[in-house]
Amino acid sequence: MNSSNSAIRGSRVGAGPSGEKDTGFQAERIQRTYYCFNNHSFSPLFAASAELEELPTELDCPHCGLPAGLDKDNPPQIAKHEPYKTHLAYVKERRTEAEAKALLDEAVAAVRERRERLLAEAKAEIKKNTKANKRSA
Ligand SMILES: [Zn+2]
Repeated sequence: MNSSNSAIRGSRVGAGPSGEKDTGFQAERIQRTYYCFNNHSFSPLFAASAELEELPTELDCPHCGLPAGLDKDNPPQIAKHEPYKTHLAYVKERRTEAEAKALLDEAVAAVRERRERLLAEAKAEIKKNTKANKRSA
């Protein structure tokens, strides 16, 4: 029994002949090397059909995430990050205290108005249903 299976031993479904080359169509490629500020370099491939001007002059470095450019001796520098600001800090930059109060009053008024309208609608609904129930009883 075992000896009859020996022909497929060591094989697996989908395994092709060993050493088989990829015979699929290979499009022409351009390879460009990008350098980041941390001395990383990487060389992505681009389709040769793309115009050279269309290729990016800067890419994010896959190693550290910094921008990387084509000039090895002059990699793109990143502007110093602004210190982290809270959402509230940004809001305070844009709005004065008086504007904030006006906006808050407006928002509160809108909520109140909506609440009163919903309450009135609910009351009207209850009234209607009560009448309908009385009629059907
Ligand atoms: Zn890098």
